[in-house]
Amino acid sequence: MTNKQRVLIVDDEKFNRQILSELLLPDYDVFLAKDGEQAIALAGTEPQPDLILLDVIMPGMDGYEVLRRLRADERTCAISVMFVTGMSEEGDETKGLNMGAVDYILKPFRSAVVRARVRNHMNYIWQRKQLESDALIDSLTGIANRRQFDHTVDDEWRRANRHGSTLSLAMIDVDYFKLYNDTYGHGEGDQALRQIAKAMSQALNRSSDLVARYGGEEFVLLLPEIESDEAVRIAEQIRLAVEALGLCHQKSSVAACVTISIGGVSLVPSSNASIAEMLVLADNQLYLAKDAGRNAVSWGAVESA
Ligand code: GH3
Ligand code: MG
Ligand code: MG
Repeated sequence: MTNKQRVLIVDDEKFNRQILSELLLPDYDVFLAKDGEQAIALAGTEPQPDLILLDVIMPGMDGYEVLRRLRADERTCAISVMFVTGMSEEGDETKGLNMGAVDYILKPFRSAVVRARVRNHMNYIWQRKQLESDALIDSLTGIANRRQFDHTVDDEWRRANRHGSTLSLAMIDVDYFKLYNDTYGHGEGDQALRQIAKAMSQALNRSSDLVARYGGEEFVLLLPEIESDEAVRIAEQIRLAVEALGLCHQKSSVAACVTISIGGVSLVPSSNASIAEMLVLADNQLYLAKDAGRNAVSWGAVESA
């Protein structure tokens, strides 16, 4: 698979599919459908198209009906649709645009116009995606932010609840970080947070594991589908990875370098428990880790929450 953006061309006439795909193939990955059913199936299949060029008049399901169904399905409702039509009456154009089509291309095609319209819209889609992914990244450290964590923990909680599997969550807090800032300055503090975030992300191996900046010098760790002893092992690995950075911290009373404390909990989510409660349990464990002297992992395994 390439990194090209994807266009799905839907037209009952082979000739039209051919012309459009020849036009767009140099710049995009092109998929073809010859009727509404095929179009809907392809639109819902990974990798999903970024843009659909949709013929209005087709035997069976017409373009309007295809658009209506795409919009009704949450997997396909956000895909951009551009109508391709031979009807040039204003009323039809309005109908399609009111249904949420982004643009119209009139048959017979003028190559330069088709290319320009598709390119303009693809640029817009690319920018929108970029903004969406920026919104999930913490700008200081470049790792996931709290918003991404909130989405992910929600998904993982529901998944674990469905499968009866264990979910592990940990709060991570930098030790004596106020003193670090006081000693080395806020700029060095920021630099330390970046390195800590990087070390923690690199210490994770599974794509399902997530470390996010929760706020300030606090981070949160999410480890789905492993037992508590394995979760503790990973937390310990993260603690060691930060220690191994060797960021000098003269004022720390627990070590000569920057360290973190981790408080975590493993449980099988049940319907009468909540993510908020799980966060509180993890926070309690963090408090215990701090109380025990810092640079430590404290963990609770709850039978059923
Ligand atoms: P403890 O070991 O109990 O956690 O001590 P602490 O000093 O880390 O705890 P405290 O919560 O008192 O201080 C947190 C400090 O983290 C205070 C704040 O200046 C610093 N901090 C929070 N966010 C940032 C940030 O984005 N950049 C920098 N440089 N410092 C931050
Ligand atoms: Mg703190
Ligand atoms: Mg702290």
